Amino acid sequence: MVRIRAVRKRFGPLEVLKGIDLDVPAGSVVCVVGPSGSGKSTLLRCVNRLETIDSGRIWVNGELMGYAERGGRLHALRPAELSRQQRGIGMVFQRFHLFPHRTAIENVMEGPVTVLRTPAAQARRQAAELLERVGLADRAHHYPAQLSGGQQQRVAIARSLAMRPSLMLFDEPTSALDPELVQEVLAVMRDLAASGMTMMVVTHEMSFAREVGDQLVFMDDGVVVERGDPREVLAAPRHDRLRAFLGQVL
Ligand code: ATP
Ligand code: MG
Repeated sequence: MVRIRAVRKRFGPLEVLKGIDLDVPAGSVVCVVGPSGSGKSTLLRCVNRLETIDSGRIWVNGELMGYAERGGRLHALRPAELSRQQRGIGMVFQRFHLFPHRTAIENVMEGPVTVLRTPAAQARRQAAELLERVGLADRAHHYPAQLSGGQQQRVAIARSLAMRPSLMLFDEPTSALDPELVQEVLAVMRDLAASGMTMMVVTHEMSFAREVGDQLVFMDDGVVVERGDPREVLAAPRHDRLRAFLGQVL
């Protein structure tokens, strides 16, 4: 589903990704952990091509992201083609970025109506179903400011799902939330994983990684230092750097 090979990325003099190889099989959940600045967000942003890469390859659903390969040469995709690829990938950030002057249901409908040209009545029905799925049927007509952080984040997840993505990227979706609101968002993510969604999740929630993750990837300083079954990796980390990291977050 996602295939990342030898990906390198630098910002000026700073090399942030130093040759990343990673696979996310269809229907699986890969949790990415690592210290601040290790390149986790950059990696996610490279997958949906919010960032370009300097070398290497990223495939999503068998398609090279951002490029077409013809006769062994890479050609950058036209913007419309790139947008089509990006539409299939949902992303949820630490901050929710909802439209403040739209209600929850209007936020969820926005993408289908404006981008997919779904008729409004149909988009509204789908949005209502998605809000129900994230446990917010009774908050459909609330504005973001009238919702808790956890509720806003669940609206943000519903909004992403409204575009019918085949891959969901989460970048620390619970780290801006008060502790008592974290679980309601993780529960929605757990349901989504159980429904078969392919997911890449940057998180510090080790219990989520242990219970839901099919693979745990530990990044440090732009490289994957350790990876494997989350239960095995967390029970017996092999690298000192991972042990030190776990000592801080657990
Ligand atoms: P955190 O846990 O704090 O979110 P991270 O692992 O997500 O960290 P990144 O955000 O990927 O780390 O950043 C990796 C490095 O790249 C950091 O040193 C960061 O300052 C740098 N960086 C990220 N984006 C840019 C940018 N647009 N321009 C310059 N440097 C950047
Ligand atoms: Mg980050």
